[in-house]
Amino acid sequence: MTSVTAPRHRLSPVIIAYMVVVHALALSAFFLPWPPYALPMALGLYVAIGLGTTVGLHRLICHRAFKCPRWVEYALVTVAMLTGQGSPLLWAANHRIHHAHPDVDGDIHSPIRGFWWAHMGWILDEGSTDEQAWRTYCKDLADDRYYHWLVRFRLGPQVIAVVVLGLTLGWSALPACFFLPVVAWMQSTYAVNSVCHWKGFGYRKHDTRDLSRNVWWVGVLALGEGWHNNHHAYPASARHGWVWWQFDPGWLFIRLLRGLGLATDVKVPSRRHGARSPAA
Ligand SMILES: [Zn+2]
Ligand SMILES: [Zn+2]
Repeated sequence: MTSVTAPRHRLSPVIIAYMVVVHALALSAFFLPWPPYALPMALGLYVAIGLGTTVGLHRLICHRAFKCPRWVEYALVTVAMLTGQGSPLLWAANHRIHHAHPDVDGDIHSPIRGFWWAHMGWILDEGSTDEQAWRTYCKDLADDRYYHWLVRFRLGPQVIAVVVLGLTLGWSALPACFFLPVVAWMQSTYAVNSVCHWKGFGYRKHDTRDLSRNVWWVGVLALGEGWHNNHHAYPASARHGWVWWQFDPGWLFIRLLRGLGLATDVKVPSRRHGARSPAA
């Protein structure tokens, strides 16, 4: 176990209250009647916010794994923001810090501080992150006015979605149709930081300088993000599942965008990165 400097803990009552409320609303879905459209709508929203996060926030914004028109980028990022996962600037800064210092002192959410810390503890603790880190780590995004607006109003897309869905579907439909898929996705993406860096799960294919692991069931739940050892081996790759059986819906979606002419300069792994054969 690597020795680490403990961060100055500063638990955030606001973030804790937010987490308790959204998780309670999601759980309340199991005690309320579901309208007939609830299940397909919940599954559809889960996939939409999942693709927004893995393709938009992660592969596109953080790693520039492909290029696309600005409206596609904004659409993906806005859908990802329905999960209330902070703002794109802060998300990208925290994630780039993770790749710069993976599983050593300085990594914001490594399980070297414990599984719970990596899963959710760091999110509840304001002392774990620096609100201004984007100035250092996201200079390429620093001039984007929409992303700066989302720093101030990071819950804006989520609040608008709740009001619109509440007024159109009825407020009692929100737990099943909105909060359940949102919270399920939040937990799936938290598992990438905890499960996919924890030696009790999955396996390592590449000898990366971190604890990252490929975990198939996180790959399924997090739409390809679970092939995390592959990701750390070549972070700029648009493709996380490097062989056909490594299920990667995020990659399938990028291929769809490319087929529609909406994604160009798509980066894929080669033998140099440890791929068995150049990926298409
Ligand atoms: Zn990682
Ligand atoms: Zn990454």
